[in-house]
Amino acid sequence: MAIRDADFKRMAELLKLGASMLSESCPECKVPLFKLKNDVFCPLCNRKFILVKSDEELSRAATDLSLRSLEKIAVSKLEELGDLVSATTNPDKQFELVSLISMWLDVLGKLRNLTSKKE
Ligand SMILES: [Zn+2]
Repeated sequence: MAIRDADFKRMAELLKLGASMLSESCPECKVPLFKLKNDVFCPLCNRKFILVKSDEELSRAATDLSLRSLEKIAVSKLEELGDLVSATTNPDKQFELVSLISMWLDVLGKLRNLTSKKE
């Protein structure tokens, strides 16, 4: 089954709602399962899944790990950019740097939102 644009939109929508994408996939649709609150389901066929506790914890740990390494990258980029901003007096350069800072802050906010959603 091919994934259509509408399906991608639905997945993006779910992520915005705070759902997390799991490493397990739907045996039918072959797409990653999503977890919203305590529900694990396939974004395409809407079938619900119950993950055995250890598997869930495994996937949670794996997801956390990759999110945390991304978080570290975002923080180090922000530090670098902060140094660059204070070192430059050129307004164009400052504008460019501040736009990048804003972008990374956005990324960081999303990552923190995802990792804090774990109950
Ligand atoms: Zn499915």
